[in-house]
Amino acid sequence: RHATEVAAAADDCVMADGTRIEVFANLCSAEEATRAVRLGAEGCGLLRTEFIFLDRADAPSEEEQRESYAAIAAALKGRPLIIRTLDIGGDKPVPYLPFPHEDNPALGNRGVRLGLQKPELLATQLRAIFAGVPAAQCRVMVPMIVDVEELRAVRAIFDEAAKAVGLTERVALGVMIETPSAAILADNIAAEADFLSIGSNDLTQYALAADRGNPAVADKIDALHPAVLRLIAEAAKGGAKHGRWTGVCGGVASEPRAAAILIGLGITELSATAAAIPALKAAVRGLLLEDCKALAARALAAGSAAEVRALIEGEG
Ligand code: PEP
Ligand code: MG
Repeated sequence: RHATEVAAAADDCVMADGTRIEVFANLCSAEEATRAVRLGAEGCGLLRTEFIFLDRADAPSEEEQRESYAAIAAALKGRPLIIRTLDIGGDKPVPYLPFPHEDNPALGNRGVRLGLQKPELLATQLRAIFAGVPAAQCRVMVPMIVDVEELRAVRAIFDEAAKAVGLTERVALGVMIETPSAAILADNIAAEADFLSIGSNDLTQYALAADRGNPAVADKIDALHPAVLRLIAEAAKGGAKHGRWTGVCGGVASEPRAAAILIGLGITELSATAAAIPALKAAVRGLLLEDCKALAARALAAGSAAEVRALIEGEG
């Protein structure tokens, strides 16, 4: 086999009963990609592309973006690269994108909403992605989706951008599930999305009505809250109904002890910080799917995050 295939096979993460779980890395740069591969990442499950757009006076050109994406793809040496389209909003100062003041930026014009309002921004990014990343490696993911209508609007721009750069291979287009709406409607969205990836950070903030950036409510924020777990379960069920995989790329995916619950809920891909990958893979390799399902059922029946935490204490 080709050398990169052999390397990829050595990276594979398989549970004790043979169930395959993909362990990917969340990335923001090519340097991080190199480090993640060294630590055993099977690919990138979330490239936060904001790094190219923030802290500068003008928008990055298509060429500049293409070079950045290509460098990260090269650092991953053929492994899958899931690129999230731009996810900024009124809470981040971007001089070339003047935002009117918003009282609630978390509920405002951010993520895919901004991309659809400024379609040329999204189209430029998509052309740069298609031109910079080999199609076999490339997947695109859309943040902050609430329903399938938004996905359809993105797909129109996506298809147009693919045509503009002469892309003939099919590139997967997935969505982040990070609003309660998207989790509840996952069965509907998954009919047209190629994969689902749960943004547990935002999903938790929106489900528990607690601002993820506000230290005064930090103790309210826990992605293992049973309300969030029920939304994750709903999303995974919706994905499975259409044969789509569902992953988690929020912070909870980096917690080795949470893996059993997430896998028991139907999650088959975990995208974690590079540093968390060795411990996460070790934990996953020791798990049995049947045990995970039993644990997840108990977690779904719990009444609070503390009760769920008590369940996983001492589990490894
Ligand atoms: C999330 O919301 O869980 C997520 C992965 O996206 P970000 O943290 O970049 O908002
Ligand atoms: Mg998010």
